[in-house]
Amino acid sequence: MNKTSLMTLDSEAVKNNIQFLKKKIGSKVKLSSVVKANAYGHGIEHLVPVLEEAGVDHFSVFSFDEALRVRQCTKLAPTILIMGWIGNEDLARAINYGFEFFVFSLERLQLTFNVAKAQKCSAKIHLEAETGMNRSGLNMKELKKAISIIKADPKHFELAGFCTHLSGAESISNHLRIQKQLKKYSKMLAMLENEQLTPRYKHVANSAATFVFPKARFDLVRIGIMQYGFWSSAETFIHYIQNQKTKEDPLQRILSWKSRVMAIKNVITGEFIGYGIYYLAQSDIKTALVPIGYACGYSRSLSNKGRVLISGHRCSVIGLVNMNMIIVDITNVPDVAEGDEVVIIGKQGDLEIKVSAFSNISDELNYEVLAHLPGDIERRVV
Ligand SMILES: *Cc1c(COP(=O)(O)O)cnc(C)c1O
Repeated sequence: MNKTSLMTLDSEAVKNNIQFLKKKIGSKVKLSSVVKANAYGHGIEHLVPVLEEAGVDHFSVFSFDEALRVRQCTKLAPTILIMGWIGNEDLARAINYGFEFFVFSLERLQLTFNVAKAQKCSAKIHLEAETGMNRSGLNMKELKKAISIIKADPKHFELAGFCTHLSGAESISNHLRIQKQLKKYSKMLAMLENEQLTPRYKHVANSAATFVFPKARFDLVRIGIMQYGFWSSAETFIHYIQNQKTKEDPLQRILSWKSRVMAIKNVITGEFIGYGIYYLAQSDIKTALVPIGYACGYSRSLSNKGRVLISGHRCSVIGLVNMNMIIVDITNVPDVAEGDEVVIIGKQGDLEIKVSAFSNISDELNYEVLAHLPGDIERRVV
């Protein structure tokens, strides 16, 4: 366990976000909580139980190992849907545990059939349609073939879903391509239903699509980024807020990330600070050393650019981000002492450092910053 910093997860914010999302999608649409990439860096083992308490009973992950982790930390036997990778060697266990999973190729379908038949049971599958993203899924011809495979021996399959993924609903520039995808999805769905195969859940939408293309909600939405308190993009937020009376963001951030001052130093004019010649003291300055670096997800591209909060002041990172440390300028902050709180992400007094501020500087997406947060940093639910 890495104790150089601490992440806190705000359980009230989780409840707020889930309530908001459920209210928006209504009671007829299922919310699947996407907790891939260690719950977008928040930590599966810490966050999933809180989500479950907030009323979530359907989780989506990328891989079999993540599904196992969700299964282990939940109490109420939620549905667990694997949207991506299951090694062939794990397929039998995935079926036995009742995990649902995307079937994105005919090979995967055939193997699923073989495994389910050998075990004399049925597999809960979501047929994934290729509708224009050209990433994964069955095209029209393959879907026809899939239908014939399923119908030949239907007792080994439970058609839990029919789904696709859109190619960037968070940006207006993809509008046309997405309209085409939705059309294609409906056509493929009709073909499936004409063959008397009715999927339990039809699903297409991620967070952005849920808000930008309400008709893409179908029976279930796969919500990732928004449940953590972030809009998929500025555009998505503006799209939502322009029709609202109050212009306040209804979402709340869950995660804060804090460390402490490790040492304080005075540096005189003309001295370089840290490695090489990246920062020159142009006057006498006072610095604080903070034990976080790129090894714990604090990007090197924040060198000379990042900001942290100390004693209610915004302080600049000076010089290079090191593997385990950063140096910050505290010249204008009175009375800083070793052990004082340093906010890397979150609030202190009236100030806040948002993940987006972070990501704008480092040119990473919110998604990317979050997913890079290491799993071994201590986490606490408050
Ligand atoms: C990650 C993912 C989502 C969730 O996306 P958000 O933009 O975080 O809501 C939904 N569906 C699939 C297939 C995904 O991979």
